[in-house]
Amino acid sequence: MNEMTRISAQPAYSERVQSLLRREPALFINGEWVRSTAEKTIPVYDPSTGRQIASFVDASDEDVDRAVQAARTAFDDGRWSSLSPYQRERLISRLADLIEANIAELAELESIDNGKPRSAAQGYDMPKCVQTLRYMAGWATKISGEHIEPSGFPTGTLHAYVRREPIGVAAQIVPWNFPLMMAVQKIAPAFAAGCTVILKPAEQTSLTALRLADLVAEARFPAGVFNLVTGNGETAGDRLVRSPLIDKVAFTGSTEVGKIINRTATDTLKRVTLELGGKSPVIVLPDVDISKTAAGAARSIFANAGQVCIAGSRLYAHRDIFDSLIEAVAEAANKFKVGPSLAPDTMMGPLVSTEQRDRVMNYIDQGRKAGASVFHGGEAPGGDGYFVSPTILVDVKPEMSVVREEIFGPVLAAQRYDDLDEVAAQANDTTYGLAASIWTRDVSAMHKLAAKLKAGMVWGNTNSAADTSLPFGGYKQSGFDEKAAATGSKLIRS
Ligand code: NAD
Repeated sequence: MNEMTRISAQPAYSERVQSLLRREPALFINGEWVRSTAEKTIPVYDPSTGRQIASFVDASDEDVDRAVQAARTAFDDGRWSSLSPYQRERLISRLADLIEANIAELAELESIDNGKPRSAAQGYDMPKCVQTLRYMAGWATKISGEHIEPSGFPTGTLHAYVRREPIGVAAQIVPWNFPLMMAVQKIAPAFAAGCTVILKPAEQTSLTALRLADLVAEARFPAGVFNLVTGNGETAGDRLVRSPLIDKVAFTGSTEVGKIINRTATDTLKRVTLELGGKSPVIVLPDVDISKTAAGAARSIFANAGQVCIAGSRLYAHRDIFDSLIEAVAEAANKFKVGPSLAPDTMMGPLVSTEQRDRVMNYIDQGRKAGASVFHGGEAPGGDGYFVSPTILVDVKPEMSVVREEIFGPVLAAQRYDDLDEVAAQANDTTYGLAASIWTRDVSAMHKLAAKLKAGMVWGNTNSAADTSLPFGGYKQSGFDEKAAATGSKLIRS
């Protein structure tokens, strides 16, 4: 099924984006753009071409401390938390309006920076940013406490109540796969609750976060409520996590870095939310419509070039339909036209960086050496761009690294199963527990299986459907928030 992919040239950037790329590197602290004390920068590459196109600040310790102090002061003097909830709602909504008004430009920037198709950035990431901000803006006026009747005192003698208060200053550290969307998913609820924020985007993708700071200023948020620190994780990110002036760290990223952050934050007993990696199973029962299910399975792993925490990277198909399903998934994979991010017909862009492309190709190699067969794809086409073709591995074994580890690329590892107890055990045989999908017409079997899966989100006959109103959490090493229970949701498409 392999056809060598030919990659076309990256179309020209718009003039507006070209002028944004020429900006002087700066940080957004206390409501204004400031220069770094150290003047160190990080280069920006277009993953479709491998060319350097801009650079931004690699924040020094002093820069980080300045941003933390600004957020601390803005929280402590109440300029944000003491505003009326309605005023906070209006400002968050205004930010949503400004993102909406600039969707085309933001989508182009995101697509150039991350490598995702412009159509995906414009049709999915940016509208999600707007929706998240509007949804969370509504919470600003709905968060409230409760009255409690004490149990051990005569009724009416004590007035007891629970008041919900903002935690304080939040350091928010995000990854590169959905750069602006992840940033907005962090800042929006924090703003609604009355917290002040220091955002640190990933060093691979900081361009849209820089534009976000412009829009926060344009919306006229009070100074210091939102601060942007760009820079390396091990330096700027670590400095944030260590700061005694920060009350909470909200982190989305790899399990490996999540563990480091959790350990570091323990020294000051900060609250920590960790949204980490996954290795999510896609379970297909024998009664499915093969072509619809194959299209869903392909979307689940090839969308965003597989760089999705909830990607369905392990396929378990019933023995009776395995061969026909794999043929159909390969056919669906063929429709994912690989190309430069700005080309209108591109459905799968390059991976975010050379490191990520090499990492993914290395996993494919490891799989081959361990005895897996490449049923489809397995190539890194595209000259200087960081492309990897949609890849399907068969003849895989549960102990192989391609089955056990998060590859974070367009690589599907497919296995056969015989009965539902067996597949539930195989699906749960992982250190992760973020998501799963079940494909069948048998609703009863679906619910029984869903209850057995240790996954935060379980989808029925659909995949990757996340909603701002639903919990987004996981079991095991996929992360946690400070509540002890695993949070999750079940979403079944009828
Ligand atoms: P990463 O862990 O390498 O980096 C994430 C962020 O952490 C970046 O901003 C980075 O600069 C920063 N960082 C790195 N080291 C740090 C340190 N020592 N201290 C503080 N900050 C540090 O992750 P990535 O490669 O950017 O993203 C991919 C990972 O993110 C995947 O594992 C994916 O599953 C996960 N992810 C999870 C979710 C979720 O909601 N569960 C969503 C998206 C991505």
